[in-house]
Amino acid sequence: MSKTDIKSLNLAELKELLQDLGDKPFRAKQIYEWLHVKLAVDFDDMTNLSRQLREQLKSSCEITNLKMVDKLVSKEGETTKFLFRLQDGRVLESVLMKYHHGNSVCISSQVGCKMGCKFCASTIGGFERNLTVSEMLDQIYRIQSISGERVSNVVVMGTGEPLDNYDNLVKFVRILTDENGLNISQRNITVSTCGLIDKIKALAEEELQITLALSLHAPNDEVRKQLMPIAERFDIESAIKACVYYYEKTGRRITFEYSLVEGVNDLPAHAIELAGRIKGLNCHINLIPVNPIKERSYRQSEGKNIQNFKNILEKYRINVTIRREMGTDIDAACGQLRKSYMDKASE
Ligand code: SAH
Repeated sequence: MSKTDIKSLNLAELKELLQDLGDKPFRAKQIYEWLHVKLAVDFDDMTNLSRQLREQLKSSCEITNLKMVDKLVSKEGETTKFLFRLQDGRVLESVLMKYHHGNSVCISSQVGCKMGCKFCASTIGGFERNLTVSEMLDQIYRIQSISGERVSNVVVMGTGEPLDNYDNLVKFVRILTDENGLNISQRNITVSTCGLIDKIKALAEEELQITLALSLHAPNDEVRKQLMPIAERFDIESAIKACVYYYEKTGRRITFEYSLVEGVNDLPAHAIELAGRIKGLNCHINLIPVNPIKERSYRQSEGKNIQNFKNILEKYRINVTIRREMGTDIDAACGQLRKSYMDKASE
């Protein structure tokens, strides 16, 4: 029989487990604290539990533990990229970004990705599997332990489509923001999606206060289809409508991500069309100069075109920022470090 992945259990489930083991439910809170606050990696670390209970736990449960394979620090020291090995040997990447307002960690939600966005490195090797709740949590826990830095913000913008791993994602958010755990504020968590509409609507019903980011990348279906296969399944209007629903349900302002690709989606006409499409919505646009990957011929828009795109949106009174490029010297764009590691491994 396979062992229970104890770090994926919420407090109520952990209480049940202890009851099943014939132990006192209040022990659950102690164990939960060891796992989610003190970030213990071994049952033997749990020194306030009896030896008998620790042995019982060891025989029925396991503590997932990511192993760091590589760590790259950008020149300025503000971005650190971690490559972790999972228990089954697969690898994933996570990034620590230090900002004035605190430390942010970007995590992966799947190993590989099936969404197929044309400019994204995560999609090239295809989809391998969903990450478990504990594997998502562990990216933050390991980075906090290794770096000694408190993590205050989490963005689910690494490899994978988080809403394609919906149940694990929601449970992950609840455990991460649990007052008995790391207690990260829900408002400091952002989940980015390419736009799985039914899942956006479901997320709106979860009574969470997390920020939703939609990868828009185009002002219309025609351009969007050139970059994102998901646009064949859901049209842009329905994707935006689902975001409006999310806003109405949660009161959280929507972020639209827009990666600028030279000659594809960065023309003044695109900016004007985009402004018309989202006029009147309580939203924010994050312009991202596309990070070229060697497998594709897409080029980053020129600086002056990026600035011009921003100016046009501002003229229409749209909140817009250009994402600062961080850590390009260490392959910090989605999936690039993992990709180069896998390329080397298969040589
Ligand atoms: N699957 C989710 C989250 C992962 S990617 C999503 O699609 O939103 C996080 C963001 O980075 C997305 O907006 C994605 O489109 C963008 N992105 C991926 N590769 C990129 C690249 N090479 N340059 C710029 N943005 C990229």
